[in-house]
Amino acid sequence: MNYVSTRDKKLSISAAKAIATGIAPDGGLYCPTEIPQLTAEDIAALCKKNYRGRSADILGRFLTDFTAEELEQFAARAYADEKFGGSDTAPLVKLEDGTYILELWHGPTCAFKDMALQMLPHLLTASLKKTGEQRTACILVATSGDTGKAALDGFADVEGTKIMVYYPVDGVSTIQKLQMVTQRGNNVQVCAIRGNFDDAQSAVKKIFTDKDSIRKLDEQGMTLSSANSINWGRLAPQIAYYVSAYCDMLNRGDIQMGDAINVCVPTGNFGNILAAYFAKQMGVPIAKLICASNENNVLTDFFRSGGTYDRNRPFHTTISPSMDILISSNLERLLFLVSGYNDAMVADLMKQLNETGKYSVPADVFETIGSQFEGGFCDDVQTKQTIAQLFDEKKYLADTHTAVAVKVYEDYRERTGDTTPTVIASTASPFKFCQSVISALGGTVSGDGTELLDQLHDMTGAPIPAPLAALSGLKPRFDLVIDRENILNTVDLLGQI
Ligand SMILES: *Cc1c(COP(=O)(O)O)cnc(C)c1O
Repeated sequence: MNYVSTRDKKLSISAAKAIATGIAPDGGLYCPTEIPQLTAEDIAALCKKNYRGRSADILGRFLTDFTAEELEQFAARAYADEKFGGSDTAPLVKLEDGTYILELWHGPTCAFKDMALQMLPHLLTASLKKTGEQRTACILVATSGDTGKAALDGFADVEGTKIMVYYPVDGVSTIQKLQMVTQRGNNVQVCAIRGNFDDAQSAVKKIFTDKDSIRKLDEQGMTLSSANSINWGRLAPQIAYYVSAYCDMLNRGDIQMGDAINVCVPTGNFGNILAAYFAKQMGVPIAKLICASNENNVLTDFFRSGGTYDRNRPFHTTISPSMDILISSNLERLLFLVSGYNDAMVADLMKQLNETGKYSVPADVFETIGSQFEGGFCDDVQTKQTIAQLFDEKKYLADTHTAVAVKVYEDYRERTGDTTPTVIASTASPFKFCQSVISALGGTVSGDGTELLDQLHDMTGAPIPAPLAALSGLKPRFDLVIDRENILNTVDLLGQI
């Protein structure tokens, strides 16, 4: 199976090459040229496997230049019991009202990013070997909190790689910052940037396009690489957990083979929900894909307006910061797929987005999207109310991002009367966002740092995830803070680690 750029189908390469390079030279995203199909027999066979087996199987159908042995070995290491607090890698919790919560945050950094970023280092290092790359891959990450820590943990002490994470000095939660500055490993570096996430992101982009920096790195045997969700190696591992959730529902006898389910996903960059779309296209009977946003509701407007994407609007800082985003990069892949791989159309729409911040999808293309996707959003007040209600009435403690999805799903069910069994993706542990969750539950936040973990635990009785509890014993290793104008100076640090 080959991969092509969403902006130029003539650029066709192997999966390994797509993962090693991350983004296409024309700025497009790599997409598989076909979608492998799962029959009912295939799904029945997957039901008998554990998460690792399911993951290796699904990945193997997309990454045809990797062997089954390779992928099984990678899955065994990425999703080892000791990393995910047991053998249930992605538990499916059923609430009293029949809704399913797919908990994707039992990995080492307590956010769903682990599901992909524990796997990516294995895929990337193997891809570099397969493509003959000799240089050390330097992974640069701009983060609003979760990706940075998950990437640090995934790549720590991985041979042939170095990783540098940039986070906005005032843009991450107390716990997220602690997680990053205490990261272990001899190939890691963490740097705070004065400004917000957009400032950090554009500063990092500057390194990727700075010829001087790239040449300097090359002279020292290094090449730049990225770990964000435009890399196919991050998206592919995410498809497996939607297939896995369907298997779990079958195994419980809650549904029969072929029965439809809905999926609702709290969305930022459109990566997670796109993985669910791939699962649907493979043959998992997913009826509706419900895309949940916070007040940065550019995607809700896209779905409800019949396909007009308009990022010209104020940026809101919310209590679900990982969804504070106005350019959802992975939507580009959806447009490519639903238009029948119309690269010229995608290139044109992305040019319009770049120049005017806006585009409208042709009506016939949007029809295919509109029949499968629903959009909805809620604000911070509603998010907090939902956290309180879930806890008081259903005894479920949700983080701020998951709560957005629950609220949007409840609104959808009320609006449509659709009672199809629904899986809601839960993307982070509530303990990563203690301040907001404590105040949503009516508590007064006292102290900062790891005392917050104890406070939330005392209020709810919920167990503190072990990797977060361990933070209180760790010393910060990184205290570098820079102005974004000086970002290019940090390239020299890569040579020193
Ligand atoms: C990254 C993130 C999201 C958004 O996921 P996308 O794949 O970017 O849509 C939602 N919730 C949490 C907690 C995240 O870390």
